Amino acid sequence: MSAAVLPSVAPASDSGGHHGALTADRAASLLAACSTARRASELHAAVVRKGLDSDRAVAFRLQRAYAASGRLDHSLTLLGRTKDPTTIFYTSAIHAHSSRGLHLPGLALLSDMLSEGLLPTAHTLSASLPACRGLSLGRALHAYAFKLALSGDSYVATALLSMYARAGDAAAARALFDEMPDPHVVSVTAMLTCYANMGALDDARRLFDGLPRKDFICWNAMIDGYTQHGKPNEALQLFRRMLRSSAEPDEVTVVLVLSAVAQLGTVESGKWLHSYVKNSRCVQLNVRVATALVDMYCKCGSLEDAVAVFHGIGNKDIVVWNAMINGYAMHGDSRKALEMFVQLRDQGLWPTDITFIGLLNACSHSGLVEEGRSFFQSMEHEYGIDPKIEHYGCMVDLLGRAGLIEEAFHLVQSLTITPDAVMWVSLLAACRLHKNMALGQRIADFLVANGLANSGMYILLSNIYAAVGKWEEVARVRSMMKASGIQKEPGCSAIEIDRKVYEFVAGDMSHPCTDEIYAMLDKMNALVKEHGHVPQTELVLHDLDEATKEKALAVHSEKLAVAFGLISSRPGSTIKIVKNLRACSDCHAVLKLISKITSRKIVFRDRNRFHHFVDGSCTCGDYW
Ligand SMILES: [Zn+2]
Ligand SMILES: [Zn+2]
Repeated sequence: MSAAVLPSVAPASDSGGHHGALTADRAASLLAACSTARRASELHAAVVRKGLDSDRAVAFRLQRAYAASGRLDHSLTLLGRTKDPTTIFYTSAIHAHSSRGLHLPGLALLSDMLSEGLLPTAHTLSASLPACRGLSLGRALHAYAFKLALSGDSYVATALLSMYARAGDAAAARALFDEMPDPHVVSVTAMLTCYANMGALDDARRLFDGLPRKDFICWNAMIDGYTQHGKPNEALQLFRRMLRSSAEPDEVTVVLVLSAVAQLGTVESGKWLHSYVKNSRCVQLNVRVATALVDMYCKCGSLEDAVAVFHGIGNKDIVVWNAMINGYAMHGDSRKALEMFVQLRDQGLWPTDITFIGLLNACSHSGLVEEGRSFFQSMEHEYGIDPKIEHYGCMVDLLGRAGLIEEAFHLVQSLTITPDAVMWVSLLAACRLHKNMALGQRIADFLVANGLANSGMYILLSNIYAAVGKWEEVARVRSMMKASGIQKEPGCSAIEIDRKVYEFVAGDMSHPCTDEIYAMLDKMNALVKEHGHVPQTELVLHDLDEATKEKALAVHSEKLAVAFGLISSRPGSTIKIVKNLRACSDCHAVLKLISKITSRKIVFRDRNRFHHFVDGSCTCGDYW
């Protein structure tokens, strides 16, 4: 036990804050009400002067008063000096540590106590369980609690449930939950958080809806679940409901909802949230919230708003610079992203691995091969940051897009870490883009032979085999696709009109204005054909005749969203679309022409980046 220096016991002027003799009872009650370390040491001095420190009740209260006021060192020294401390002394010390996140010291105290031959009480167990990270120790304590017939105690059961929930063992947590006659709100929240974290959102929602009074922790857990598991619209709706409830959102809530809005890409909702933060009394516009705002505006396609927030931040840390660099990279403004790097170095900030992902992406999106190589080198040699798989992925992408496919392939082969699917897809896409079918076929053969081909690669593989006339291989890829049973994630495009989000999948007929949308779509398809567009039917993988393939392409989700945008927004206004997958090249070509024919700017976010279609061309330079 540490031997911290305890405060001196020199006479204090008004030791007890009370006129008359200080008795043990009086000292104990004063200590029970004591809330600051300074007051605790004043009382400590008085207690020693009166010789009351050997009184066990006083010694215990003193130990607890130091712990409660944050002087765990003093508290532990007192515990060390106590002759034959009982369970209650240890329990108080364990609680003081585990409730402050000092898990290992808390568990060490439990171990000290057990080796003294003392038996834990229900309080000891419920104070120790929050310190258990991981299941093995938690399970051991569960077994011990059962042996001592304490596992049915409501505090112990709640702490056990929270332990299992934290460790992600939903089944064990649920078993305890179902045994509780009247689960406390702490248990419900722990169970709900466990479900939300693992993406069992319906189970989480049932518990959430069943809570008569919900505090902000429950709201945050539910919103977090939706945000982390691809249901940003639900997260946003729930936040609107929260504002009508009695619970007050905090900084965490706002950062979560901003991340949901960033996923949705709906700038009007983002602006509404921004003005909410400005006018809120409970949420400060600090650097963390501002960073989430910068990120949201970048992902919602409004670089101007992101820049305005960025410049308004007083003490910028590297995280917010990273958000801005990534924003510029995403929008294809590589020059600005690279400039930002020089500026942040001038400010004396040190880049992180995320900074380099932004920079390498910027180089990749603009074909800046030499700059990219030099960042990749300096990252390791100047800044001491080991490249991760994402950085190698960026380099493979950069080289592949620029046509240096052999070099990219060598880089992948030289890796000491296992290349991920993203890298193989980049390489295959580069082979197709630069028509290097020989290498494409070599890579394809390798992936198929080693069982590494996955649903994200099938179209690329099949295109490559089709291009070299390997029809047997094309058929093989198709049957693999069917056999894999993995449904390709359906393409979905969203558009926000008057703060309402409309989502479209390919061939969608669910919108109330379907007839008008399809009429506009027909018009669009006819117009682009007049302007020389030839539908890229080779992108359709099924065994269909040409006309049917054309029809399949014509109803792609992004085209439907644009058609809806054209009929439901002011002429001349910008149309903003967000798609969950990479832009398909037929739609890319059509959207370029539509921007020219209708004189509309179209801002299109795909899974990786933004495309700004203006007057027949795209800011990506057809390079994505
Ligand atoms: Zn398409
Ligand atoms: Zn583009």
